[in-house]
Amino acid sequence: MESDKRTNEPSLGTSCVHAGEHRRGPAPFPTVTPIYQATTYYFERASDLEGFLKGERDGYAYSRWGTFTNSALEEAISSLVGGGSTITTASGMAANFAALQAAGLRSGKTLLASKEIYGNSYDIVRDYFERNGSRCVFTDFKDIEALEQTMEREQPEVVFFEVLANPTLSVIDAPRVIALTHAAGAKVVIDNTFATPYLYRPFLDGADYETHSLTKYINGHGDALGGSITCGQENFRDLESLVCTQGCVLSPDNAQMIARGMKTFALRMRQHCANASALASFLVGRAEITKVRYPGLGSHPTNSIAKRLFTSGEFGGMLCFDLAFGGKAKSFALIDALRLMTPAGSLGDVKSLIVHPSSTTHHGLSAEEKERIGIGESTLRVSVGIEDPRDLIRDFERALNEII
Ligand code: PLP
Repeated sequence: MESDKRTNEPSLGTSCVHAGEHRRGPAPFPTVTPIYQATTYYFERASDLEGFLKGERDGYAYSRWGTFTNSALEEAISSLVGGGSTITTASGMAANFAALQAAGLRSGKTLLASKEIYGNSYDIVRDYFERNGSRCVFTDFKDIEALEQTMEREQPEVVFFEVLANPTLSVIDAPRVIALTHAAGAKVVIDNTFATPYLYRPFLDGADYETHSLTKYINGHGDALGGSITCGQENFRDLESLVCTQGCVLSPDNAQMIARGMKTFALRMRQHCANASALASFLVGRAEITKVRYPGLGSHPTNSIAKRLFTSGEFGGMLCFDLAFGGKAKSFALIDALRLMTPAGSLGDVKSLIVHPSSTTHHGLSAEEKERIGIGESTLRVSVGIEDPRDLIRDFERALNEII
């Protein structure tokens, strides 16, 4: 397979299979990194443990500070995002929380955040950081000229956004936002969970901290919660210390589950993208549906940015749309009528999932906040799985006819 021209690493599909898998421990070597359950490791001599704790020698002493299993996954994630050092966390939220802290957000400091972010990320900014003395400003990151002025006016220390936003699927011009942030002397944290490194790699464009909910596409099977943060070597020691002392670390069991899921990440993404594109085209043609938001559609407000950033010409597995009539009641009726769409508040699973964001992923936001973002009572979000797309379209056709 062709290597990646920007990193000289093997291409993504190859990295998914091989990265992080090394000969660890005594021979004979397992071909897959096992789960190291031990919480505690001993050293032959007391001075070795002292040397380890002083940072003079590598190894493992206590599983909150790392395990062989976590290291294998962390190496694999670094290879996926295009470099840097990675630490895994207990969840995607733990990753966002720790990354914002590591980037310098604390009392007296200002955060400039995109208004189009996951509901719990919004909550953590407003309910935790703001209440503890940070100043948090939410704004529209799609309007780069206005963003530049806001940055000049607000003088943030930290900037936070999702490249592909949840649930509106707006694509943010990440290279320009990163450049603006650095010109302002601030640090940028990017949650790349929706776009994934399959579509776009912000770390290669200079993101200071790139976070992922590994629970989603990278694991892909809906059976393990996890997160990751990648940053440059210069910031890694502080980040590692923050995550390990806070204790929001990933269990080795989940690390292994996620590493296993990741082997087929590139393969799955190809199918997610093709299926979502087919379903979006079908939904556009239905009279009962309006506002189909899929970045690959020419009608999508950020389609030109998507085409520039997502160089493979694929646009991800997420889409959302509004029902043209019937509001929340009909939206719920559609969810109940669908048989292949599991009604569940997650994404990136091999199974197709559908949610009503207003009452689930973004239920903590006020009606005005939701309206500002573009989430209505008739908005539904679909995480398109890897089933046969013809079956998914048939399921929608039948369910739509049923609820009319
Ligand atoms: N970031 C985004 C964009 C998400 O959609 C989610 C969850 O849906 C998270 C972070 C949080 O991930 P986790 O559920 O693993 O904490």
